[in-house]
Amino acid sequence: MAVDSTLPSAVGASVSDKDAKILHFIDEMTKNVDSVQERVLGEILTRNADTEYLKRFNLNGATDRETFKSRVPVVVYEDLQPEIHRIANGDKSPILSSHPISEFLLTSSGTSAGERKLMPTIHEELDRRQLLYSLLMPVMNLYVPGLDKGKGLYFLFIKAETKTPGGLVARPVLTSYYKSEHFKNRPYDPFNVYTSPNETILCPDSIQSMYAQMLCGLIMRKEVLRVGAIFASGLLKAIHLLQLNWKQFAHDIQTGTLNPKITDPSVRECMSKILKPDPELAAFITKECSEENWERIITRFWPNTKYLDVIVTGAMAQYIPTLEYYSGGLPMACTMYASSECYFGLNLKPMCKPSEVSYTIMPNMAYFEFLPHESSALELSRDSPPRLVDLADVEVGKEYELIVTTYAGLCRYRVGDILRVTGFHNAAPQFRFIRRKNVLLSIDFDKTDESELQQAIENASVLLKEFNTRVVEYTSYADTKQIPGHYVIYWELFVKDAANCPTDQVLSQCCFEMEESLNVVYRQCRVADSIGPLEIRVVKNGTFEELMDYAISRGASINQYKVPRCVSLTPIMELLDSRVVSKHFSPASPHWAPEPRHLA
Ligand code: AMP
Repeated sequence: MAVDSTLPSAVGASVSDKDAKILHFIDEMTKNVDSVQERVLGEILTRNADTEYLKRFNLNGATDRETFKSRVPVVVYEDLQPEIHRIANGDKSPILSSHPISEFLLTSSGTSAGERKLMPTIHEELDRRQLLYSLLMPVMNLYVPGLDKGKGLYFLFIKAETKTPGGLVARPVLTSYYKSEHFKNRPYDPFNVYTSPNETILCPDSIQSMYAQMLCGLIMRKEVLRVGAIFASGLLKAIHLLQLNWKQFAHDIQTGTLNPKITDPSVRECMSKILKPDPELAAFITKECSEENWERIITRFWPNTKYLDVIVTGAMAQYIPTLEYYSGGLPMACTMYASSECYFGLNLKPMCKPSEVSYTIMPNMAYFEFLPHESSALELSRDSPPRLVDLADVEVGKEYELIVTTYAGLCRYRVGDILRVTGFHNAAPQFRFIRRKNVLLSIDFDKTDESELQQAIENASVLLKEFNTRVVEYTSYADTKQIPGHYVIYWELFVKDAANCPTDQVLSQCCFEMEESLNVVYRQCRVADSIGPLEIRVVKNGTFEELMDYAISRGASINQYKVPRCVSLTPIMELLDSRVVSKHFSPASPHWAPEPRHLA
């Protein structure tokens, strides 16, 4: 078994006292996984003993794992929805947590009704998130020296927030963090200096925000030592913005005046202190950007960049080739693994290849259990609780679904991520992110599952009825070759009367109808232009039979063959694309607005 017990000693300079303390903390946590987990569960059960939720299971003051596991059920979001709706509607009694719910965090994954999940959180969770962030740089400093000698160009954004009927704020976890005092008033740390002033990050208009952040990055280009965003898609969006607006950037820098389309007063004010006429830089931008070739654009603009700081694991792996193209193969550091429910852990070897990334879950963040993946498909009933494995007991090579019990009051909650154990650091297992359950298509923050796609197709097909036409088969593909990426849906149609087949206008309307039917995160990304218009590609009759023949020729069983609802393999894509008879795009953005929700 691969057990790693040491982090490398610092490259070049010696480890600072502050870093040494943090590395010691990581060492302690990873050596004492099981006892820390026992303590965490004890703390959670003690503090939440009088909550309505836990009282239901008659723990009678017990805080041990055995009793907890035998009495408390494993749940999914839908199981907690009645409690969550009560909290959202203003019930302040201790339902899930003895600590007051401070706000709701909106997940990017949706409920079966296509809405974002509302994760209740408590104020002190911010400290826990902050703690996990504080571990990242000391680990990075072990691998990359001198990061205190320059800045990080990070594209960070806030998103729209709403209020629940009871008055609690509901917003994404990163928006909550960037708007917190923890972030806004963070003490100066030479290892964490960003080119983006807070005002640009906190600008609610994401295009203005990105524009200002890019402008700062260009102005400070020689100081930039790392370039990043949370997910790969965010960084690519910023590059796309540069592609579209480089003339305006050059003009702003040439004249020392800010693009009048940037209207946010605090952004304008802070940019007025940074932006000065710099004809030399303006000429450089013009020279670099007017070339057709954008290969290595990141290293051309930011020549001192040592690595890209972006998550490229999971659904984001599709962006690795594009990022390699733009960065000339710079290392891509995936530093942490987190969610709205809980921040889980970090990558102790952040400079490893994307395909080798493993995250070490920190045992102090929550109480973690693991459902062996084979059993996660089975129905989990309250009468026969499944056998969940503790963090310290998972086995190398096996896959598990992650289950968390948090300080904020989630108990044995299925996060929906499938992880594989790759080894250990001290006694702490390390996990490769395998996939999120049930996600078929994803471009940015959106996650579309099979039933959502099916529903969208059914809704769109209604428009075909008057043409006596129906969709016989379909599959889909997340096309990320261009920025922004977009959903491609392949349709094989049965047209009864060739003289009355659906026109391009009708099929474009079908694209729009599908978009209207997709979940709220998809629609939000479309409105923000981080996903392009949905495309339907109509294929020749018989194409899906050919697809089946291909699968069977590759060993699939005829009896068990099912049409894949999402494809990505090159030969299959080539087959489909060679049979396309027409292409249609959604003519407009679907409806989306950050409205307060009505909760039953
Ligand atoms: P959210 O539901 O919006 O809070 O997003 C959290 C989800 O994003 C996690 O449960 C994962 O599915 C995914 N995620 C977060 N961090 C990573 C990572 N480092 N690698 C892959 N997927 C991640």
